[in-house]
Amino acid sequence: MSYTVINPATGEAVTEVAHLDEHDTDAAIARAVTAQEAWANVAPVDRARALRRFADAVDSDTERLAQLETQNSGHPITQSRWEAGHVRDVLEYYSASPERLIGQQIPVAGGMNVTFHEPLGVVGIITPWNFPMTIASWGFAPALAAGNAVVLKPAEWTPLTSIRLGELALEAGLPHGLFQVLPGRGSVVGERFVTNPSVRKIVFTGSTGVGKRIMSGCAEQVKRVTLELGGKSANIVFADADLEQAAATAPYSVFDNAGQDCCARSRLLVERSVYDKFMERFETAVQGVKVGDPLLDDTEVGPLVTQAHKESVQSYLTDDVPVAFTGSAPEGPGSWFAPTVVTPERDSRIATEEVFGPVVAVLPFEDEEDAIRLANSSDFGLSGSIWTRDLGRGIRVARGVEGGNLSVNSHSSVRYSTPFGGFKQSGLGRELGPDAAEHFTETKNVFFSAE
Ligand code: NAP
Ligand code: MG
Repeated sequence: MSYTVINPATGEAVTEVAHLDEHDTDAAIARAVTAQEAWANVAPVDRARALRRFADAVDSDTERLAQLETQNSGHPITQSRWEAGHVRDVLEYYSASPERLIGQQIPVAGGMNVTFHEPLGVVGIITPWNFPMTIASWGFAPALAAGNAVVLKPAEWTPLTSIRLGELALEAGLPHGLFQVLPGRGSVVGERFVTNPSVRKIVFTGSTGVGKRIMSGCAEQVKRVTLELGGKSANIVFADADLEQAAATAPYSVFDNAGQDCCARSRLLVERSVYDKFMERFETAVQGVKVGDPLLDDTEVGPLVTQAHKESVQSYLTDDVPVAFTGSAPEGPGSWFAPTVVTPERDSRIATEEVFGPVVAVLPFEDEEDAIRLANSSDFGLSGSIWTRDLGRGIRVARGVEGGNLSVNSHSSVRYSTPFGGFKQSGLGRELGPDAAEHFTETKNVFFSAE
């Protein structure tokens, strides 16, 4: 079994990637078990050094990783370079963790009580195709830092940068078997991570449907699980906002990465009193988005990841969906899709389901209460933005919106030093931030008798 990687900007075949079967997966997990036992006994300072060497190897390989991502996923090259740099930064950040996994000494009678953060063992990471290398690093860097081994299954469509990261780990001197990248089908390699008892935790990023299946599979062994799932996040623009700034930035909050972003603000909520004024400015901004050849430095948005995904995005634009305006995209080979702005009913399919493409649903609202109610009328709760010049309103709405990652007067959502994850059906648990390494440990409490 194998998969032919297609460059989504040209439609041309790039390379063939061999798939592992269940037997190969079990053998890799067995190697990981052995490697982890040794790694957990490496001095914290030496684990820290090893992770810094891995970060250096990624840094030296930035251009190659970026070119691979652009060829495989169609990301604009400047974005791909940023992604490789982000992986380096995440490794550097968590290289500080081995020496800082500090337990507690708790006062008790008759002796001494201390807690330890023990590694879990082998961690299985399953990644989606939209941000292949960055999302992988959010799992493997803190997991390795905490003394675990990692098996990583990249998405079938986008395995190339993950495979390269596996090679770089070895080049940097990480022990064999400690960090293994296992390309294959979700239903084969991914399922085996869930069913093989030697894998002690699953970190899954992907669709809510597959996430639910993984969660119920993990229940069988009470296996630890972190889920980062879908979103339908709201960008809320109040009448008192800096409308120029809100309109100029809104396209990038949803069309970046061609909308294939779990944090995409794919619902744009605009206060009715400024709706027309805002839409005029927004149209100009959308028409200014540069969709094109991802190898060019000034390209802002590339193609969709595959032809199959393009068809899935297209299927949301049924005849009854009112299109307000569109941006532009190249014609010809490649899975191109122009940024599209629609004005549907609040409860329509396109306004409630995750499209995962460059499509935004604009919905007018009446007042603050209506905005919060509309933003929360979703099973998802991942991210969102709030635009207002009123500080009190910014605070009230940020506390009222059910979402894990909100920003006021900006669209930022992911920083490696701050926690990331979703409310409701957008996920379970948090990644990144100062505590992530602890999420890859069990707390052990030990009482030493003074008798
Ligand atoms: P997906 O279809 O759920 O696949 C994600 C991963 O799971 C892939 O590696 C896939 O392998 C694997 N998989 C599929 N079936 C499996 C099974 N039965 N058992 C174990 N693993 C299985 O998601 P996607 O289409 O790649 O990604 C898009 C989704 O990811 C969107 O919903 C998006 O919102 C979400 N996402 C969320 C976040 C976040 O942080 N919250 C970030 C990025 C993306 P194959 O490739 O072989 O199918
Ligand atoms: Mg899928």
